[in-house]
Amino acid sequence: MASCVGRFAPTPSGRMHLGNVFSALMAWASVRSQNGSIILRIEDLDIRAHNPEYSSLLLNDLRWLGLEWDSGPFYQSKRTEHYKEALNSLKQKDLLYPCFCSRADLHAAQAPHVSDNTYMYTGTCRNLSYAEQVELSKHKTPAIRLCVPNKTYSFEDRVYGLTSQNLAESCGDFIVQRADGVFAYQLAVVVDDADMGVTEVVRGSDLLSSTPRQIYLQDVLGLSCSSYAHLPLLVAPDGRRLSKRDHDLDLGALRAQGKTSEEILGFLAYCIGLAEKGEPLSAGQVADRFSWDALCAHRKNVVVEHFLQVL
Ligand code: GLU
Repeated sequence: MASCVGRFAPTPSGRMHLGNVFSALMAWASVRSQNGSIILRIEDLDIRAHNPEYSSLLLNDLRWLGLEWDSGPFYQSKRTEHYKEALNSLKQKDLLYPCFCSRADLHAAQAPHVSDNTYMYTGTCRNLSYAEQVELSKHKTPAIRLCVPNKTYSFEDRVYGLTSQNLAESCGDFIVQRADGVFAYQLAVVVDDADMGVTEVVRGSDLLSSTPRQIYLQDVLGLSCSSYAHLPLLVAPDGRRLSKRDHDLDLGALRAQGKTSEEILGFLAYCIGLAEKGEPLSAGQVADRFSWDALCAHRKNVVVEHFLQVL
């Protein structure tokens, strides 16, 4: 049995860009350097929002990069029964309540959470009476929120070190099922990582602030907890984070320009000091050179300078 199980968990909301490739490469290299296995999970919870074409392009791009996986792809859109079960278990623990707040109510109440654009929820609907819930339900389908305790959850991140968050103070009760029935990422990711035996989560530091919520969910659902490593984000020299909007840096554009997978992977390894400038590398060669120290040294962010010229 493999000692370590990692995963790729891409959302098929566009073509993979350099930042996504970097996350996939680091997750893969860490697992391969430990002779572990890797799962591919397509996070298409909101299937109406995702174009199925992106899922097949994702598989194609990962194979082209040489980032082979050992099991999957598993599609979250086909796993809703598992999320329902988890939701029922939370309901039995009396931790859920319907929330009728509109986006406008939330905007008015608080500023967006700095890191992930969600809103600190002040608990407006937490104490509605049953009669009030019934009345409000006549006009609106509610979202479902999970009560959080006034408690600090901590974990040791492999790159960022000890990370702690008091859930009541930093995010408040959070949504586990949207009003349109779509399960929330926080719930699905925790259920899936446990069901799939994931022991190591390696992903972008944009999700660092989500992890205490996930640890809380693991705690209340009695699920196993994996180790966490959050990766520095790739940023342009002006500090702007690379995103799917940078079409000139997505794999569609790079492949059309004739870039090879070794050029792209070598370039990403170069960004964290694991390769010489312009040195092409296969995924296996990056795994051979992989080290957490290289990532820790770039904790602040990986500045992708003059990427097009270098690449
Ligand atoms: N689906 C998320 C993304 O593409 C990643 C979730 C995770 O790694 O936990 O950003």
